[in-house]
Amino acid sequence: MFDPEKLARENIRSLKPYTSARDEFSGTAEIYLDANENAFGSPVSGRLNRYPDPLQRALKEKIAPLKGIDSGRIFVGNGSDEAIDLLLRIFCEPGRDAAIVCPPTYGMYTVAAAINSVAVNEIPLNDEFQLNVPSILDAAEGAKLIFICSPNNPTGNSIDRTDILQVAERFAGIVVVDEAYIDFSHQASMIGDLGRLPNLVVLQTFSKAWGMAAARVGVAFGNEKIIELLARVKPPYNVSGLSQDAVAAAIVGGEPRVADWIEQVKQQRGIMRDSLLRLKQVEAVYPSDANFLLVKFSEADKIYKFLLSKRIVVRNRGTMSGCERCLRLTIGTPGENQILISALEKYENQAASASAEKTI
Ligand SMILES: *Cc1c(COP(=O)(O)O)cnc(C)c1O
Repeated sequence: MFDPEKLARENIRSLKPYTSARDEFSGTAEIYLDANENAFGSPVSGRLNRYPDPLQRALKEKIAPLKGIDSGRIFVGNGSDEAIDLLLRIFCEPGRDAAIVCPPTYGMYTVAAAINSVAVNEIPLNDEFQLNVPSILDAAEGAKLIFICSPNNPTGNSIDRTDILQVAERFAGIVVVDEAYIDFSHQASMIGDLGRLPNLVVLQTFSKAWGMAAARVGVAFGNEKIIELLARVKPPYNVSGLSQDAVAAAIVGGEPRVADWIEQVKQQRGIMRDSLLRLKQVEAVYPSDANFLLVKFSEADKIYKFLLSKRIVVRNRGTMSGCERCLRLTIGTPGENQILISALEKYENQAASASAEKTI
């Protein structure tokens, strides 16, 4: 039987969590004089003088049916970045334990590990940006966590489900599958696999498809025992009341609009892909299951600077191993995408006329 408690650090197992003022009383009280709040009110509307629900129950009641999961299997964090940090702190003893990451991938896994003095064992993705399963399993001993990003940032592709399942079945530690871009993917979420894989944690976020990045709300789904550990270690009021209310409201009214935006992004992704492939500077447009494209250019750094001079900001990923000369382009509105393509065409025409001058 897999017991995440046994995998947790000693100090976490014996941790007596901070109990907030409202933990010892549920229901509606006559008066609340327990938390040193301002009882008169707050200068703005919305009962902001009161601390928010530390367990985010109302929000979890909205997320549960949206994702088809029990609310006991949901952790809500200050962005999914908070869950990444907490998982490292719960399971990895600083200076002793390691986490596996599969670059090129999202940089926060390594940064969060470094902040927590957790060694990172890098097992690069292969040429198709897929998992190197045998190497991962070879490195598994001594690692407590593995981070798998699917669809992967910055490459955009989904990671083969069968490979993730194989790793999850054979790895004794926690397998974290970061699904920040799952709404744009043709591949189904791994949430459906949580029931039979007790060591699986799925991360999702309201920052991308849901259009709620400013609220900083991310979610971890997993085995109740892992969710309990996350709740034990998190700061009691980790998600503000404003953010809880905003995301709950977004879920109630926003689903049709979000679904429509997702369709538009996918359509624009195809249009952008075709437009980019027509440019001579473009060497490759990698297949994407996300709301961005990874594009290899013959002169990526020059193009990046040229775009900046036109006040167009994209992400230069050229320093990442496996992404040499690559820029990551977020799919914007049709108008924004057209501005980007026009700028790239302008660059190409300038480059062409410059080389024509040279030959004259
Ligand atoms: C954007 C992103 C996140 C961050 O999500 P937040 O909920 O905003 O913290 C996590 N993982 C990946 C891969 C991302 O690209």
